[in-house]
Formats: sequence, structure tokens, C-alpha cells
Amino acid sequence: MKKEMICTVCPIGCRITVEGDAAAGEVHSIEGYTCKRGIQYATDEFLHPVRILTTTVKTDRKDAPVLAVRSRTPLPKDKLMDCMEVIRKVQVKAPVERYQVIVPDICGTGVDIVASGKLEA
Ligand code: SF4
Repeated sequence: MKKEMICTVCPIGCRITVEGDAAAGEVHSIEGYTCKRGIQYATDEFLHPVRILTTTVKTDRKDAPVLAVRSRTPLPKDKLMDCMEVIRKVQVKAPVERYQVIVPDICGTGVDIVASGKLEA
């Protein structure tokens, strides 16, 4: 399996190509990086890609029907759809403070979904 990616560690944005077998946890070759940080980024992105999840949840307020939320830390990319299914069913009740936990340990990932903004009572 071959995967192309752009390193996001620094603004240079090297285009990196990784070959390997992600399911077996193997990286066979990495090309296109300029520094060691790119090797680490590409290895992680190939074997265990993660993303910060940003979305909204419903609220009980008619004048503010949605509240922005995000994962406190990056989530495994292959869990994002499952996490969205859980978040889609959530409705928060005002008041909500910024960074208040909305969904603890979402999908058993150990990552909390927290409020990005505030919802007044
Ligand atoms: S490989 Fe190094 S130089 Fe290239 S974008 Fe990544 S961190 Fe920056």
C-alpha cells in the first residue's frame, strides 16, 4: 500500500510518500521528507492517523439551536464516523461553559468531546 501526504508539522509542507502495510504495522519506505520530524509524522499518519473532530451538537435553546464542540485531543481517524453518530444524538441543556465535557470518553477512545463555546442560560 502506498500513501501520499503533506507533512503538516511545519509550513514547508513536504510532500511525503509512504509505502508499507498499515494493517501489519509495517512501514517499508518513506520518501520526500526534509527532516526527521517528517519521518515521525509520516509514520504516525500511515499507521495511526488521527484528527481533531470539530462539529456541533443540538441545544435546548430556540435562539441558539447548536453549540460548537470539538475533541479535546485528536481521535483515531477510523473512529470519526462512529463518534459523529454518538454526537448527532446529543442535545445539551443550557447553561454550558466553554471546555465543559459534553461526551466523556467518546466511543471508548479515552478522548472527551468538549464545548468550544459557551451557552448562556
Ligand atoms: S518533513 Fe520536516 S521540513 Fe518537511 S514539512 Fe515536515 S517538518 Fe517541515
